[in-house]
Formats: sequence, C-alpha cells, structure tokens
Amino acid sequence: MRGKLVVGNWKMNGALGRNAELLGALRSGWQGGDGRAIAVCVPFPYLAQAQDALAGSTVAWGAQNVSEHASGAFTGEVSAGMLVDFGARYVIVGHSERRHGFGESDAQVAAKALAALAGGLTPIVCVGETLAEREAGRTQEVVARQLAVVLDGAAADAGRLVVAYEPVWAIGTGRTASPAQAQEVHAALRAQLARNAAEGVPLLYGGSVKADNAAALFGQPDIDGGLIGGASLAAAEFLAIAGA
Ligand code: PEP
Repeated sequence: MRGKLVVGNWKMNGALGRNAELLGALRSGWQGGDGRAIAVCVPFPYLAQAQDALAGSTVAWGAQNVSEHASGAFTGEVSAGMLVDFGARYVIVGHSERRHGFGESDAQVAAKALAALAGGLTPIVCVGETLAEREAGRTQEVVARQLAVVLDGAAADAGRLVVAYEPVWAIGTGRTASPAQAQEVHAALRAQLARNAAEGVPLLYGGSVKADNAAALFGQPDIDGGLIGGASLAAAEFLAIAGA
C-alpha cells in the first residue's frame, strides 16, 4: 500500500518566534505511524531552525526551491547540496507561483528536479493547469506535458519523485477542486507514472485544502495526501489535515 504524505508549504511566511511555536507544536502533536508522514517546506533562512526543532522527530523538513546548478557563479541561488547540509529531505519544484511568477519553464523545472535527485533530495514536482486551460478542456494535456519532461529526465530514478497536482485556480483562492475533479486528474497521472515504472510515487493534491475538506479529497483512490499552503501555518489545522 502507498503511504500517506502531507507536506506544508509555508511560502514566504514565517518569523523566528512564530516558527518556534509552530515547529514545537508539530513535533509534540504529530503521532505518525500507520504509513502516514508529514513534512514542512520552509523558507531557506529557516532551514537551520527547522533542523534544530525537528531533528530526531518524525516530522521531516525541506525547501521550496532549488537551483538546477550544483555550485558556482549563480548569485542568490541555493543548491541541493546546501539543502542537504541542513538535513532537508524534500524540495518543492515547479510550484505554480514559480512557473507563473518567476517564469520557470517545464525544462527548468525538470532540471531542478534532476539536481534535487542527484543531491539526494526528494523533489515534490508540482503540476497543474490554469483556469483558462481547464475551461479550454486542456487540463490533462497540460499536466501530462509538465510531468513528462520530468519523467523523461529522471528515467530510472522516477520512482524517487513525489508529484503534486495543484490546479492553479485552486491555490490560495479558497476554491478547491472537487474530490471527483481531483481524482480524475490523479488517475491519469497515476497511469502516466505507471507507464514509467513509477506507479508507487506518492501523488499529492494541493489547492485550498483545509481540515474540513481533506478527508473527502484524501479518500480518493489515487490521492495519497496533500501539499498544503495557507493551512500549514496553523499547527492545529495542519495536524487535523494530516490526520484526515
Ligand atoms: C500551495 O502553496 O502549494 C497551496 C496549495 O496553497 P493553498 O493550500 O494555500 O491553496
């Protein structure tokens, strides 16, 4: 059976004092077990704090972006090796806020995923369609294209990925895909993963997941958990989602 994974994406939120409370509450409040795992992806400056607060616990941590390069003259960039130095297990790549806000292409997202794999990290590869693409009936084509570039590059390592389906129109909007809408896309992604010998890859849903809609989404056969933005900033809400 595939395990369940719920990952918090703090986005560009946090402050040392608030983080300490949140991380402490996750550490003491998370029971784990039963094939369930949680992680938080924090802003780069707080990786050391996450490592201090969570080391030895069952809560993993990671980052929200990584350079496709290993080192060198790339001012402002952060490499996979640097993330590993701080105990990171996961890194989000291809979040829609980076694809659409920072112009990251499919090829660049794939290069980042490969750099993460090469560095020993688990990339959480985000795919998702815009509202215009959904309304044009292009959802399946868009997510398949976004995933294919990563699968082609990862080849034999494809089984080490995590994939998150995040419809762009549902991120931070309060508008969630219905469980049936999400399952339809997840089933297609699962089939695509299976064709690449990666059927067991955790397939997360993200987009305005809250404690009160998580159980219905996570109950779908091809949804293995969630990537949680806003609701990951409150320990009780995040733990309730993870327990759903
Ligand atoms: C996200 O940032 O990946 C996300 C899904 O955000 P939210 O849960 O706030 O929609």
